[in-house]
Amino acid sequence: MDARAAYAELLRRYAEVRDLSSAAALLSWDQETMLPRKGAAARGQQLATLAGVRHERFTDPRVGELLAECRADFDSFDELQKAQLRELTTDFDRATKLPKELVEQFAAAESAALEGWRDARAKSDWPAFAPHLSRLLELLRRKCEVLGFGARRYDGLLDDYEKGATEASLVTLFADLRSRLAPLVGEVLERADRADASCVKGAFEIAKQEQLADVVVRAMGFDLDAGRIDRSSHPFCSGIAEGDTRLTRRFVEDDLRPALYGVIHEAGHGLYEQGIGVELARTPLGEACSLGIHESQSRLWENIVGRSLPFWRAFAPTAARLFPSLCGVAPEQLWRAANRVERSLIRVEADELTYNLHVAVRFEIERALVRGDLAVADVPAAWNGQMKELLGMVPGNDAEGCLQDIHWSMGALGYFPTYTLGNLYSAQLWEAAQRELPGLDASIERGELLPLREWLRAKVHAHGRRYPAAELIERATGAPPSAEPFLRYLRTKLTAVYSLD
Ligand code: ZN
Repeated sequence: MDARAAYAELLRRYAEVRDLSSAAALLSWDQETMLPRKGAAARGQQLATLAGVRHERFTDPRVGELLAECRADFDSFDELQKAQLRELTTDFDRATKLPKELVEQFAAAESAALEGWRDARAKSDWPAFAPHLSRLLELLRRKCEVLGFGARRYDGLLDDYEKGATEASLVTLFADLRSRLAPLVGEVLERADRADASCVKGAFEIAKQEQLADVVVRAMGFDLDAGRIDRSSHPFCSGIAEGDTRLTRRFVEDDLRPALYGVIHEAGHGLYEQGIGVELARTPLGEACSLGIHESQSRLWENIVGRSLPFWRAFAPTAARLFPSLCGVAPEQLWRAANRVERSLIRVEADELTYNLHVAVRFEIERALVRGDLAVADVPAAWNGQMKELLGMVPGNDAEGCLQDIHWSMGALGYFPTYTLGNLYSAQLWEAAQRELPGLDASIERGELLPLREWLRAKVHAHGRRYPAAELIERATGAPPSAEPFLRYLRTKLTAVYSLD
């Protein structure tokens, strides 16, 4: 077989593997939105079966042979094909290097840990969760060894979520964020009265909140013929397949912000999924570049656009039409309310300024755990110490502290930094968009959000996994990833909202 034929055969096989992933994604979506409670056990079995079949198909030795045939004549492929082969090879190596036994042990440890975490969190009982985390850490260390990361264990963990990111670069980044953001918190909070949020609190009928969110999501250009929006207890976005991207949302009645910003966030993810080039569908490149890049899209829409003054100038009239209590409330007031900074214990409720400090706390602890410098039993003390130092408050119990997030119970260490990377990428992309789209603020103020979507589509979405994250950012913005645009953006915004000097 020549290299062309081998390539065609590889892509044909990969398309089937992707179909299995899509089917699994649809079953998972259904599990979160529609599934009757008594169907949960059978659904778990279906998902496990599909995962097994997918793994078997993907790691078929024939795939390795075909890849070798392509490599033998690699220079004959064009750049796009080379990128397809690069991603496919990485995924294949990863999938075949991990022994089945380790994968199974991990899956078992993970479901036990998830159960254990739910109980432990309900009782605020860290010692009950600690053995689960110890077991997961042991398996993660073995995984990093098998994958060839040696002593660079944290890099091995990052590789699952943000290929190319390193512990060393994140250490520098977080040191910078800690030293520059933490002092700003104090400065802003001395002027807390300048961002009063009472106008967005009260009673907001859910059906009307839904209408407001729909107006915004449509303006963003989320294609409802290629997607849908349903309810779930934890909002998420699932890019199931080409032409099928699903968002979920939840509502709270006494505050306008959570549902609105939740759905803008998920729609930002959704636009990314809908914008991946159709020619990449069912190929190795036909998915998002990295978690950090994915999060840059949701945060850009949620925070940079959705919490801007032009946004509120555009949508305050719609909000006032729906909610009599907002009649006569100036866009500036809504904008200030949307940007109120508060010290809080809970990461998912944090504002733009304190959010990355919450991530910094987790990064420090994860590194120490993975290095073996911190005993699992000592996590609560380390957590509380970090919280005190960075956010000036200490949780009253571990449920509000080190047990609050689900990630560790899923063995997802190395995941949190991608949230911060997403924030940084979003600001850098925004600066570039402003440079390249004159009048961007004015168009947002008219409620015209499509020019921005088109720019993001061309610069980010369309490429799928064609370029690694850092290269994608550099191609889109003309500069390698940097924290400076984010720090500039945040400083400018807070100066305006809080009238800082
Ligand atoms: Zn997100």
